[in-house]
Amino acid sequence: MIRVPILIGEHWLHPEVEQTGPVHNPATAEVIGRAPLCGAAEVDQAVAEAQRAFASWGSTPPPKRARVLFRYRELLEAHFEEISRLIATENGKTLDEARGDLRRGVEVVEFACGIAHLAKGEHLSRLAEEVDGMTMREPLGVCAGITPFNFPAMVPMWMYPLSIACGNTFVLKPSEKVPLTANRLAELFLEAGLPPGVLNVVHGSREVVDALCTHPGVRAISFVGSSPVARHVYTTACQQGKRVQSAGGAKNVLVVLPDADPEPTIRAVMGSAFGCAGQRCMAGSLLMGVGKAADPLREQMLAAMDKLQLGDPLADPRTGMGPVIDGRARDRLFGAIAEAPGEGLEVARDGRQGIPEKGFFVGPTLLDRTEAQHRVFKEELFGPVLALLRPASLEEAITSFNQLPYGNAATLFTESGTAARHFALQIKCGMVGINLGVPAPMALFAFSGWDQSFYGDLHVQGTEGVMFYTRQKTVLSRWAGGFRHFF
Ligand code: NAD
Repeated sequence: MIRVPILIGEHWLHPEVEQTGPVHNPATAEVIGRAPLCGAAEVDQAVAEAQRAFASWGSTPPPKRARVLFRYRELLEAHFEEISRLIATENGKTLDEARGDLRRGVEVVEFACGIAHLAKGEHLSRLAEEVDGMTMREPLGVCAGITPFNFPAMVPMWMYPLSIACGNTFVLKPSEKVPLTANRLAELFLEAGLPPGVLNVVHGSREVVDALCTHPGVRAISFVGSSPVARHVYTTACQQGKRVQSAGGAKNVLVVLPDADPEPTIRAVMGSAFGCAGQRCMAGSLLMGVGKAADPLREQMLAAMDKLQLGDPLADPRTGMGPVIDGRARDRLFGAIAEAPGEGLEVARDGRQGIPEKGFFVGPTLLDRTEAQHRVFKEELFGPVLALLRPASLEEAITSFNQLPYGNAATLFTESGTAARHFALQIKCGMVGINLGVPAPMALFAFSGWDQSFYGDLHVQGTEGVMFYTRQKTVLSRWAGGFRHFF
């Protein structure tokens, strides 16, 4: 049983707390560790250490900061398989999915290695007579990141590498369900030469989150998780005058036109709906077969779903889909499947059947005849439950998706450039895919959700991330009198 420590400065500590939370191996349901559920006292300590470290890290030249990131990248590569196994162990995703989780995170480190260029300001000589203008971007101070369970490496790494590269110091509050990966990632950063206190890790749940959102020493909050908590974090931290980027949940659509190439389309839809057991904020959870596309789509999907092998990703390398995160998630999904027929839906494939005995498994599920009034259309279920809709036209598909309160992602499968262009222009969401299942921007672009999928202005990643983690100073200089020879 692992006793999970927190990181304050250079010390890995076991704080005296009233409660701890279980860390599961979701594939076996075994409790493999316990994480402390910290509170305001540990947040105070972490913020104090981060403030102390900011005094020198904030003024360290960006190329020197980048050198630490270059070394960190090498260590992450050297430990790539070990970390991937840790992700698979505590999250339950397959090893390939765990590798993808870490790879996307390493890409952010690679992006952040360019900080000396990314954080450069602008300059204009002769803004007025004898006056020159320039801007510089300065770090904010102590920033905090609060992350969900579904990407134990990638989502924390959307935040702390870039924030730290910008000269900030950081307090990370990972999901209490997957604390082990975050600790290992922090340990390797220290090994790369990061000065103590620049990155701190505090485990816990609501108490830690609320303490970070209200702490006067924290200048900015990055949050990723479900929409109700994203909204709570956004309103609480904004009221305290902090910068906030707060990404929430999603209901993403995969629209298939009759002209779509069947084989790559089915592969992409399967990956989108059932990759990571449907626990991605970019997972397609609504499948729309337009007109004649619907019947063959249903048959091809059912055939592919039958071939998907469920199991323990670490015990069997052939595993195509792992478990969901815990018993609560499984019961919530079972409940939604059980309710479906009463609402008039047809359970074309029931994920409660044929699942491994141990572990938190839900098999791939298809709910046919879904319409806009149904719960599965409106609510994020966050699991391998796919709703099939049958709109008569592309226009009808776009209109029904556009009523949803979320605005994360939508994809169209087609051979028609005209249809693709129309879709990209008319669909209301921040990330659009054409012929790909998961249109997740990689480190170079912002992760640009809209509406209830994102509260704030500047998104995570890319140059928006650099802007979020720095503030701009404008300097105007007048050197009057013309040029004189001094020498
Ligand atoms: P969650 O909202 O339950 O938890 C996220 C974080 O908030 C965790 O660190 C948790 O400890 C904390 N938290 C939970 N309840 C809280 C409360 N009442 N008050 C304050 N803090 C609280 O999310 P989850 O179940 O860990 O992750 C799944 C969700 O995350 C899904 O909704 C998914 O769509 C979303 N997600 C979004 C993105 C994105 O980029 N938009 C990416 C990944 C996941």
